Amino acid sequence: AGDRAVATVQPMLRITNVARRFAATPAVQDVSLTVEPGQVTCLLGPSGCGKSTTLRMIAGIEQLDLGTIHIDGNLVADHKNSLPPEKRSVGMVFQDLALFPHMTIAENIAFGIPKARRKSADIGQMLDRVGLAGYGDKYPHQLSGGEQQRVALARALATGPKVMLLDEPFSSLDQRLRSEMREFALDLLREAGAAVVLVTHDPDEAMMMADRIAIMEQGRVLQEGAPLDLYNHPVNLAVAQFFSYLNLWSGRVDDGFVETPIGRLPAIGFADGAAVTCAIRPEHMRLEPVDGGGAIVRVSRVQSLGRESVVDVSSLDGAQKLRCNIAGPVGFQVDERVSVGYAPDSVMIFPDQDQR
Ligand code: ATP
Repeated sequence: AGDRAVATVQPMLRITNVARRFAATPAVQDVSLTVEPGQVTCLLGPSGCGKSTTLRMIAGIEQLDLGTIHIDGNLVADHKNSLPPEKRSVGMVFQDLALFPHMTIAENIAFGIPKARRKSADIGQMLDRVGLAGYGDKYPHQLSGGEQQRVALARALATGPKVMLLDEPFSSLDQRLRSEMREFALDLLREAGAAVVLVTHDPDEAMMMADRIAIMEQGRVLQEGAPLDLYNHPVNLAVAQFFSYLNLWSGRVDDGFVETPIGRLPAIGFADGAAVTCAIRPEHMRLEPVDGGGAIVRVSRVQSLGRESVVDVSSLDGAQKLRCNIAGPVGFQVDERVSVGYAPDSVMIFPDQDQR
């Protein structure tokens, strides 16, 4: 028992150096990831970056050219061999849900469970868990979008999979239902304890649902880590830009600082003369009355969203524009002069070769 206590936790899913090419398109290049039971990893990235191909390789519906995939310590795929999806202990939910229209909800949920193990009590329990008790005899078209979503989740979870794969599952829902479903799905997935891989191009969804985020671009993982680590400490400008609009300034380091319209920003760790790009997120900017001590700018636009205000300002000569997101309503008027500041630890500085 003593030995067991010190044994390291095996990741439920281990992807090692996988790659997949379609003719001239290297869809996935050298991707490695591990996901532990009960953990949600989001693959986040723009259209075409290889998220779905990665997910399909884990599911067993896409071949690997290189690399290996292990589930619960067992090799399920390499470049030669591939265990079929139904033998991998994976559950899948895709954007189009793919419920069987001619089957009842109960039949849909029972579909993946081998006949010998199908028990009506289990199906009832599963319907209960997703808040659809009494819906078993209905057909998919009789359900709302959110309800169909729950059926798809229930069907994927019914076999008790070790790995759950979700590909943009909430993108067809309207905004309110989407955030409801995210919370609902997250609770359900955590309770089920599967290792979850969620594909999304929505940074808010990734921030909200993920324990770990892998940011992908052109078939590669640019950075993998806890959501706030990626947000606060992006390895390059491309990662930083995933999360929000950025205020950017180019400049050269002079005596440890970069001159910008909002003042001299410290460039720790950069050599004098280095060409750099400075970035500050709009939510880290501050605006104060002109005696605030910061650089003086002019308000060019105010958008009040209630919970926050988006205030665009420009330098007095009009050459530089900046965006500031301020919590709650603001009293500033267009053309008013204000003082602009920023949270000191929010300045991000990248060497210029990172720019694309
Ligand atoms: P999206 O968010 O649009 O789904 P994605 O990040 O999931 O994009 P993939 O679907 O993995 O990206 O596609 C990665 C690249 O591989 C794209 O350039 C795509 O056109 C290409 N690709 C994917 N599947 C195939 C295929 N079966 N045959 C040829 N090319 C493919």
